[in-house]
Amino acid sequence: MIEHHSPSIVSLTEIAAATLIDADLQIVADAINEGKRYKIPQHISPYSKIFNELTVNDGLVMRGKRICIPSALQTRVIELAHEGHQGEIRTKQLLRSCVWFPDMDKQVQKFVKDCAACLVSQSTKTRTPLVMSKMPEKAWTELSMDFYTFPDFTELLVIMDDFSRFPVVVPTQSTAFKFVKEKLSDVLSTFGVPVVIRTDNGPPFNGKDFAAFAGRMGFKHRKVTYAWPEANGEAERFMRTLSKIFRTASATGVDWMVQVNDFLRNYRLTPHPATGLPPSELLFGRLPSSRLPHLRQHDGDYKRRIQEAADKRRRVQEHYLQVGDKVFRRKEAKLLNKTPPFYEEEAYVVTNVNGSAITARNSRHTVTCNSSFFRKVPVVCKPALDCFDIAPEEEDVPVPPCPYEAPPPIAGRRRNRGRIAVAPHSSAPRQRNVPVRLRNDFVLNF
Ligand SMILES: [Zn+2]
Repeated sequence: MIEHHSPSIVSLTEIAAATLIDADLQIVADAINEGKRYKIPQHISPYSKIFNELTVNDGLVMRGKRICIPSALQTRVIELAHEGHQGEIRTKQLLRSCVWFPDMDKQVQKFVKDCAACLVSQSTKTRTPLVMSKMPEKAWTELSMDFYTFPDFTELLVIMDDFSRFPVVVPTQSTAFKFVKEKLSDVLSTFGVPVVIRTDNGPPFNGKDFAAFAGRMGFKHRKVTYAWPEANGEAERFMRTLSKIFRTASATGVDWMVQVNDFLRNYRLTPHPATGLPPSELLFGRLPSSRLPHLRQHDGDYKRRIQEAADKRRRVQEHYLQVGDKVFRRKEAKLLNKTPPFYEEEAYVVTNVNGSAITARNSRHTVTCNSSFFRKVPVVCKPALDCFDIAPEEEDVPVPPCPYEAPPPIAGRRRNRGRIAVAPHSSAPRQRNVPVRLRNDFVLNF
């Protein structure tokens, strides 16, 4: 049995006290107070590299908003960030959000590599991942829900807020509606009723009881059959971590629910790659206290970051497909070879657009997929001409729709010849620079 060690919390007072007796940090603090970077000796040169970001505040050396941790407390801070055995990357992300010290990444890497509980819990295959879908614009309006079965047949009801990526994990006796209803009611009374809950089509979500429950609570129940690869990968990673928890718990002899909670606490505080912010902050608008040392965010700062995260998500979900558009559909992963064509030969016509869920039909099938599966069929000017793909940002430019002279070749267009048009994206319109040899011909005075 591997020994389970729960580190004690690191308070700001303790950091200040340890800073006071840390010889290196005292040299750094003096150099900061005097504004003399050259006073930092070679053996602690990492401080010298970030000298402009450093300040001294209430006995703490700060790098921006992050606290510089004295060497005596570094291991304990890493232990706290690794509680619940998040992987190396997420442990680093969580630490970077609140603290800094020289060689932090290397130390985390070594710590996680040497973590016995992690070592004996290397991941194996897990069941079907939680199906997540398009990105909503507000927190707790759209949720994805699924079960995860621990190897001892304990069922976990896993609920994820699609916006903030805040996960809720509740053990249930079985997947029978009776138990699920009880647990879900609990969650909805704590966090509120969302607009939509998405599940797969398995029991108990496919029964009448669940539909009646949705009607009574007032959320729309969507059974999702289409996949959204990016989000699915993410959900799969989450589920894989849950299965790792089960193994670390049995290896360390700790009650697995204690470990699930340790893991969830850190997961919710770790900036999420999809949003750049911790799930807790996106859902509640504030960061709950954690066992890690943390300084409070300034109000304006986090509101701005939340706004930026929301803008980022909106950009991600943008597509420009409309009913009537002709589109090609990407082949299913199992039919894909390494060589083109990656798309089905027969085009589809879009018949319905519901957010990022696109329904399209051709002579053989009607399909509903995420917009990322479709590419608009390029507009062909005239079959005999040297046709080219129309770059999406140019579609709105008022140029004659069918020029009788093919335009001069432009590198980007020639590359695309014969291929499917690139997907509409949100990048800025292409800038065309005037060649140097022509610039002197024009004198512009503004
Ligand atoms: Zn570990």
